[in-house]
Amino acid sequence: MKICTSIAEARAASRQIRAERKRLGLVPTMGALHAGHLSLVRAAKARCAAVVVSIFVNPTQFGPKEDFAKYPRPFESDCAVLEKEGADMIFAPTADEMYAKGEITWVTVEGPSEKLDGRSRPGHFRGVTTVVAKLFHGIEPEVAFFGQKDAAQLAVIRRMVRDLNFPVEIVSCPIVREPDGLAMSSRNAYLSPKERCSALVLNRSLQEVEKAFRGGERDARALVQSGRAVLAQEPEVRLDYFEIVDPETLDPLAAASGKSLVAVAAYVGSTRLIDNVVLESRG
Ligand code: AMP
Repeated sequence: MKICTSIAEARAASRQIRAERKRLGLVPTMGALHAGHLSLVRAAKARCAAVVVSIFVNPTQFGPKEDFAKYPRPFESDCAVLEKEGADMIFAPTADEMYAKGEITWVTVEGPSEKLDGRSRPGHFRGVTTVVAKLFHGIEPEVAFFGQKDAAQLAVIRRMVRDLNFPVEIVSCPIVREPDGLAMSSRNAYLSPKERCSALVLNRSLQEVEKAFRGGERDARALVQSGRAVLAQEPEVRLDYFEIVDPETLDPLAAASGKSLVAVAAYVGSTRLIDNVVLESRG
């Protein structure tokens, strides 16, 4: 497994792979890998002949008061895990390598970037789309893999790829959960045992909405209310947003239907967690 830290080196290595007519898949991550990330690597291995995993804690997608400094960076163990998974290459640049001094160019997907997490974290999606565009230019993958866990991010990236004609297929992978239902996240490591227990309410609130939807409720306000009522049972959890939206535009819906996205974000102590579910009509 090759480890590249410079864009030039990574681009040369991935061009070499493509010259051998190998279909190249990219899995962008910020490291601190867990089973959710590994499901993306496995999906990439199943569809591509070669897999590049990027590990980069991207400073431009963090707000000034967010957890950039304390974000976990267990690089050695991430490398060992990826070696075992059979990744072909890790791209792990420094921030100086990714962002030239005085850089003033951004990629912004207007509209969806201001919805959901974009509303709560101003500038977050601009950082995400800019770094993903750079990764696409640096690695030139045919396919890139993203988790449904970050549903708003997925919508924003799909729109960027469409609007800027990136020749990259975007594949989304289902949310991987702990046995008790908590969506896996590198940030779960911040939770105390008590907070870890409270955090389960996010998934429970989504399940409540699913149950009401299956029971025939379609009014988005009523559905949101049922989810919020569950969240309110956990005083340690502070709601950021609870919304039912179109999964592509992220616009709020008045009536839910199959394919509507139910998305929640909440602070458990000082840790911000997100989760979501896509409603499914039966039959
Ligand atoms: P991150 O390292 O948090 O930026 O995540 C890298 C990629 O892994 C993103 O596409 C995430 O959506 C995806 N991911 C993170 N957690 C999960 C999970 N629990 N299930 C599936 N994909 C995930």
